[in-house]
Amino acid sequence: MKIKFTGAAGTVTGSCHYIEIEDKKILLDCGLFQGKKEVEDLNYEEFQFDPTEIDYLFLSHSHIDHSGRIPLLVKKGFKGKIYATKPASDLCSIMLMDSAHIHEVEAEWKTRKALRKGEEEVLPLYNTKDAEESLKYFKPILYNQKVKIDENITLRFKDAGHILGSAIIELWIKENGQEEKLVFTGDLGMKNKPILRNPEIVEECDYLIIESTYGNRLHEEVEKRTEKLVDILVDTVKKNGTVVIPSFAVGRTQDIIYELNKYYDGHETETTKILKDIPVFIDSPLATKATEIFNKNPQAFDEEARGYIMKGDNPLFFKNLHFTQSVDESKALNISTEPKIIISASGMCEAGRIRHHLKHNLWRNNAAVVFVGYQADGTLGQRLKSGEKEVKILGEEIKVNAKIYSIEGFSGHGDRDDLIAWLKELKSAPKKTFIVHGEEDAREDFAETIKSELGIDTIIPKKDEEFEVTLEKVKSLGHEDGRVLFKSLKRITEEENELIEIEKVHQLKEKLNELKELFNKTTDITDGSLKEELTKKEYNKINNRIIELEKSIVNLTMSSGK
Ligand SMILES: [Zn+2]
Repeated sequence: MKIKFTGAAGTVTGSCHYIEIEDKKILLDCGLFQGKKEVEDLNYEEFQFDPTEIDYLFLSHSHIDHSGRIPLLVKKGFKGKIYATKPASDLCSIMLMDSAHIHEVEAEWKTRKALRKGEEEVLPLYNTKDAEESLKYFKPILYNQKVKIDENITLRFKDAGHILGSAIIELWIKENGQEEKLVFTGDLGMKNKPILRNPEIVEECDYLIIESTYGNRLHEEVEKRTEKLVDILVDTVKKNGTVVIPSFAVGRTQDIIYELNKYYDGHETETTKILKDIPVFIDSPLATKATEIFNKNPQAFDEEARGYIMKGDNPLFFKNLHFTQSVDESKALNISTEPKIIISASGMCEAGRIRHHLKHNLWRNNAAVVFVGYQADGTLGQRLKSGEKEVKILGEEIKVNAKIYSIEGFSGHGDRDDLIAWLKELKSAPKKTFIVHGEEDAREDFAETIKSELGIDTIIPKKDEEFEVTLEKVKSLGHEDGRVLFKSLKRITEEENELIEIEKVHQLKEKLNELKELFNKTTDITDGSLKEELTKKEYNKINNRIIELEKSIVNLTMSSGK
């Protein structure tokens, strides 16, 4: 089995791992590279495999950094099957279309600029037609069902508790008559996340690919997240101000709706009395569609969320919650001076309707902006969070007079201690553990923590680094049947390839010497005649083996140029 880490290794985004077994080629995720320009440029590079040859794509979840290159994969000739949970497939149907739309708009804008310069038109990475086409390849399956994909591959999705439909992928792979289990965590959620179940545990695996986003950090304020949010809302509303919450359309927005509903439901205080009268606007078409998909998939909710449904209360709706649709409705929010709460995307304020709301509210003394998610370096969100007093939005200089808050407790990822606790559920150490999906320092620190806490050695694969897992049959130590006693794993890089070849020559030469010795022992050295105990047949066998080995050495030496 070969594993090649073509994304989320060396970059956090672009999750995509390529696996090759005897007669099948598999992908785990096919995500978009997101972030700085040089990272996003990777989207335009050729895939590290031939998309037409991929048999199966197993998708951990719908986030674009895990799914966003699927339309491109299909555009480049993929004809296999895409397995995902049902909620993940449902979410992909809106998120891939949204991603395609963003690429189209961006390409149009770049084209206009290019044409003015006398340059050629810029084509989108993929368009909405490609995205629509790619949806036909999805095969939704249930959590916790062992699905026999073919004779040699069995798949099971366990809940990863990270976003609706997120999965830990368990794969049982048969090769050379031997079955091994590979587990890919995808992104692991944190415990007690709103709406979702806690990440499920895995008790055994041979090979593990684990994420490390928060591999060296701990979450703060998890318990106090809702109280803190409510305090900010009440404080701002009392001053007749508007609260603007930049939020990711899928996941975080529903978390906030859920937490507010839960708070209103559980408390009958002065605070809830004030808040219940304040309108909350979800001003993002994608967030609205995503909320509908959440409502269609309550089977993936945790017990608490299902409890609300059983009581007849939709946990993702409350009085005074409004979903705005048209641009006019969105604009109207900025004309009214009534106190209100606006939840809008994008979460890092780089695009979308949120920029209008910031432009109209940042300058106001009585307004507040609350960040509830990660803000990447260089984004408008990060600049506001770090306290910049003036920012340029939609071509205008805007003074920042509003209060800027940040609540860290709404993360989608488990922190270092959650990840370690998850690993501790394994009954025995995996034969190999690969750390992916983290900044370099997070991956390295996490590797050290795993080593010190669990005594497990890990591998931090580089981008496009390939590993080969080989079975070595050893016939000794009481194992008469010659079954596999140990496995060796080789890391293959170009320089190392050469070393492997040289090593092979050495090993062959050693075997050859052993055989020659045996041969000499069993034949009479002086005249070459056979000793009694060695039959003619055995003699020929050994002789043939020596000739074979000599040939192999010649071939290897010639191919490696040594
Ligand atoms: Zn994710």
